[in-house]
Amino acid sequence: MAAAHRSAPTLPRLGSGRQRPGAARPADDPRSALPALAYWAYWATGLPTGTYVVENVSKQYRLGDQLVPALHRVSLTIEEGVFLAIAGPSGSGKSTLLNLIGCIDTPTTGRVLIDGLDTSGHSPDALAEIRARTIGFIFQTFNLFPVLSAEENVEYPLLQFKELSRDERRARVATFLDVVKLGKHARHRPSELSGGQRQRVAIARALATHPKIILAGEPTANLDSRTGAGILELMKEINRSFQTTFVFSTHDKKVIAKADRLIRIEDGRVRRLGMRTEDGWVLVKERRRKEAMPETQTKETSE
Ligand code: ADP
Ligand code: MG
Repeated sequence: MAAAHRSAPTLPRLGSGRQRPGAARPADDPRSALPALAYWAYWATGLPTGTYVVENVSKQYRLGDQLVPALHRVSLTIEEGVFLAIAGPSGSGKSTLLNLIGCIDTPTTGRVLIDGLDTSGHSPDALAEIRARTIGFIFQTFNLFPVLSAEENVEYPLLQFKELSRDERRARVATFLDVVKLGKHARHRPSELSGGQRQRVAIARALATHPKIILAGEPTANLDSRTGAGILELMKEINRSFQTTFVFSTHDKKVIAKADRLIRIEDGRVRRLGMRTEDGWVLVKERRRKEAMPETQTKETSE
C-alpha cells in the first residue's frame, strides 16, 4: 500500500471516483502533487444523490451502571457507488458504526443524514420504514429464515411493499436469485445450501428491495477463504454493474484489499481514510488528538 500520511479535514468525504463532467483532475498523481486537504476537497464538490453523511457521531452504550464508549466524534461522507471497507481490530466500533449508518441504532450525539434526510428524532416505525426502503443488510451469520426456501427468503422483505403485485415480487426474486447465480436452488432451504450459497441468498435478499446502500457486517467471516473470496468478488461485481454502494466491516486483509475506499477505526475513532487510485492507495491519517477516548465511566467514578 502506498501511503501519504497527512492530516485529514474534519469532514472528509469519500468520493465515488467517477469523473464529473467538466471536472478537471487536480493532478495526474495526487500523491506526489497535491496536499491531502485539496484532494479531499476536490472529491467533495457537487455531491451526487445517494450520499450518506455521518456527522460528528458519538455512541456510548449503557451497560448496567456503566457507560461504554464505542464511537467518538466520527464524521465522514459516503458517496454513491463506493465499495468501502470499515477496518479495525475487534471492539474498535465497526459494528456500532454500521448499525448507526443502517439506522438500526441511534447515536448518543451527532447525526446521520441520508440524501440530506436527517434520520434523528424519528419514531422506531419511521426508522423501520427508512431502513426497509433505503438499506440492504448482509450479516456474518447470513440470518436467513430456516423454514423458508431461498426464494421465500428473498421475497420476505418485499412483502411489506404494498405497491408491488405478487407477480412483480416474484419477478424481482427470480432476477436477483439469477444475479447471485442461485436460480436453480430457488426451492432449497438454507439447511440444503452451503455457507457460500446461503450468503448469496442473503445478497439477493439485500438487493431485492433496490436499496441505496448495502451494509455488510463481516460478510466473509463465517466462510472459508476461497468461498469468502467468491462472495467478495460477487459483491464487487454487483457494485460495478449496478453502482450499488457497499459498506462492509472487516478485519480481514484480503477483504480490505478489494475495497476502493477504506476507513480504519481504532478505539472508536477514525484513524485513517483511504482511497484507491490507479497507482495504489492514498491514505490520509487523522491527526492524533491529545485527549484520549474517555475511559469507561462508572457511577462511582463519575460521582
Ligand atoms: P467491533 O465491531 O469493531 O468489534 P463493536 O462496535 O461491536 O466493535 O464494539 C465497540 C465497543 O462497544 C466495544 O467495547 C464493545 O464491547 C462495546 N459494545 C458493543 N455493543 C454493545 C452493547 N450492546 N452494550 C454494551 N457495549 C457494547
Ligand atoms: Mg463487530
